[in-house]
Amino acid sequence: MARYIGSSCRLCRSEGIKMFLKGTRCYTDKCALARRAYSPGQHGKTKSKLSNYGLQLREKQKVKRMYGVLERQFRRYFAIASKSKGVTGEMLLQQLERRLDNVVLRCGFAASLTQARQIVRHGMISVNDKRVNIPSYSVGKEEIITVKNKENIQKLIRANVEMTKDRSVPKWIEADTSNLKAKILRLPERDDIAMPVKEQLIVELYSK
Ligand code: SF4
Repeated sequence: MARYIGSSCRLCRSEGIKMFLKGTRCYTDKCALARRAYSPGQHGKTKSKLSNYGLQLREKQKVKRMYGVLERQFRRYFAIASKSKGVTGEMLLQQLERRLDNVVLRCGFAASLTQARQIVRHGMISVNDKRVNIPSYSVGKEEIITVKNKENIQKLIRANVEMTKDRSVPKWIEADTSNLKAKILRLPERDDIAMPVKEQLIVELYSK
């Protein structure tokens, strides 16, 4: 599957928000956005006014980058969201939040989304005692997420928990970081998503 292999910090800088894509560095003053809080490139410091379409496109790109999802998969999430009961934009965000790699990140078991994805892919995570190595796996209510009981894996995840301890875990997840376990209390709601997102702009873009 195609994936973005460019600079992660460039993505944060072009969206103007910290997306924690790089692990350790994101938690230090070496964060590129903290040092250069303007868009990358020659004209990064000069902000041009975007058209409505431009704003919609930007918002979509931002959300795709936040969750590390490419266009095809993103469209699939949108299709599911538009068929679901509820507000389409909110359902879209719910679909994205429920991804297993995102849950691993939100629990603090990984320092970045890239690392969370790797942790899942390498089979370090189980859901209801069954190993799941698919980052896009969609977690459900009452499911229990556990970390493989192997010394080196537990050591790695505990180091990540320590590094991310200042980040809060969303209310829909009950994380037991001392036992490296988490429980999905309920499905995520709009208020649980702390990142600044205007999902309505994405709905408008796809409804054209
Ligand atoms: Fe984004 Fe992390 Fe790079 Fe900062 S260090 S710009 S949060 S990826």
